[in-house]
Amino acid sequence: MSISLATPQADVTLGPNPLREGLEVDRVTDPCNIVFFGASGDLFKRMLLPAMYNLRLGGILPENFGIIGFSRSTLSQEEFRETGRASIAEFSRSGPAHDTLWNDFSSRMSYVGGEFDDIETFYALRRILEENDEKLGTQANRLFYLSTPPSVFAEIVKQLDAAGLGPRDNTKGWSRIIIEKPFGTSLDSARALQAEVARVFDEKQIYRIDHYLGKEPVQDIMALRFANVIFEPIWNRQYIDSIQITAAETVGVEQRGGYYENSGALRDMIQNHVINLLALVAMEPPIRSDADSIRDEKFKVLTAMRPVSQENIDNYAARGQYVEGNLDGKSLPAYRQENGVSKESNIETFAAVKFFIDTWRWAEVPFYVRSGKRLARKCSEIAVTFKQIPHRLFGEAGDHIAQNTLVIKIQPEEGVSITFAAKVPGPKMHIRSVNMDFNYGSGFGVVSAPAYERLIGDAMRGDATLFTRWDAVEVAWERVMPILEHWERTPLQDSSRYTVGSQGPQSAANLLGADGREWRQI
Ligand code: NDP
Repeated sequence: MSISLATPQADVTLGPNPLREGLEVDRVTDPCNIVFFGASGDLFKRMLLPAMYNLRLGGILPENFGIIGFSRSTLSQEEFRETGRASIAEFSRSGPAHDTLWNDFSSRMSYVGGEFDDIETFYALRRILEENDEKLGTQANRLFYLSTPPSVFAEIVKQLDAAGLGPRDNTKGWSRIIIEKPFGTSLDSARALQAEVARVFDEKQIYRIDHYLGKEPVQDIMALRFANVIFEPIWNRQYIDSIQITAAETVGVEQRGGYYENSGALRDMIQNHVINLLALVAMEPPIRSDADSIRDEKFKVLTAMRPVSQENIDNYAARGQYVEGNLDGKSLPAYRQENGVSKESNIETFAAVKFFIDTWRWAEVPFYVRSGKRLARKCSEIAVTFKQIPHRLFGEAGDHIAQNTLVIKIQPEEGVSITFAAKVPGPKMHIRSVNMDFNYGSGFGVVSAPAYERLIGDAMRGDATLFTRWDAVEVAWERVMPILEHWERTPLQDSSRYTVGSQGPQSAANLLGADGREWRQI
């Protein structure tokens, strides 16, 4: 098969296109410019520019589009394009850029260098946007993507407004803003940032990104629950014993020790990714599939999450910090030995919390969530454990009849697996657990697109379903703040240390042990 991508200048014929084979293409129809603040940064290089290129290659970008990079670094237009091409060669899932497509793509890339607090730089950005509207036919539609350190988010929004680039000054087209995580580092700072952003952009124009939500298996949680009849009747406290959500990493803090010292596992992973997963698993069926109907239901679940009082934190939350150990045959240092980390650091590299959702559906069903670095294996999953059978009919005395589990695998494997009991072949009635597995790659014969491709495309289309609304961000901060404050006040205990490559700290095992349960093996 050979494909043709329409460009304003000519049709570019590229030959077989692996990104389109077997996939439905949902083209963005509105012409637009997308401005990346932080375009000399790591995220832009590794994820965002390759995502833009692959959106183009996949035929998803509109015919008329422009890409503008904005950072403090001094880069010529040529340098910006050349470093962009090198990033695509290194990080794009489709490999190095195709010459013909690159010529067209790069001709739409521009760069503005300057300080974020200098209005002149924003006037320069405005001139490029207006030129692109003329030259590229982008029709004054603008998507701003904030991929800078969060400390400058509010400043950028203020300067956009001051330079006449805010939505109220753009009467000819639409304006939207994507804001990278973290959205605040505490309830107060999140509220302060929200106040600044909301002064310029309306909630419907704000896209708070959590790239976890763009992953196919995460989107599939809703399909699994609401496009099947077999799960919903048992998706409640009568049949479900407990739910475990795990986001385990093998990486340490890499070069981001300084950043992590002001963050920790609870802020970095649980307040956003993990709580978002919990909301998708626990929400009621929305009345429609539009963004606000879905986000209304997610918000209701989060508000029903039981707040934990300060005196009770140790019964509901456990933390950990890794000490030196071996992982994949390599000896790795302790967190306190990492670059940029204090030798006395009290920051948690592992956090586990037991949440309850006080609703009719979920009363007294524990949701155990955990996330950590330098654990035995990279693994993100949601495991729903069903109750024990009410009466044992089969199985020899020594047979253990395991509870049914349904596991939604998010990464590195993507799929769904169900564990159930089956008879072992033979004359006796021996019972053993078996698995039924669905895997995305083999099930659909396609590789899922990286989350950033999906999310940037959605923001260009104006679909905010997979982005987090302010009310949900706020309530998630409200729920984790008492834990954060308690941990900041109290030193880490010995039971909180865990060895690199292990399953996590003893304190986390104790959290479930107290309820007569165990964590799943990572
Ligand atoms: P980087 O530290 O690589 O920097 C991003 C950009 O901001 C660069 O263009 C940098 O370059 C500019 N910058 C750095 N410090 C300042 C400052 N004090 N004032 C103004 N500009 C500054 O960050 P990342 O690309 O890693 O991350 C960007 C955003 O994305 C952050 O919010 C991060 O939390 C989030 N994120 C990143 C992920 C990743 O994998 N990297 C994953 C998920 C989220 P210049 O000096 O040229 O201006």
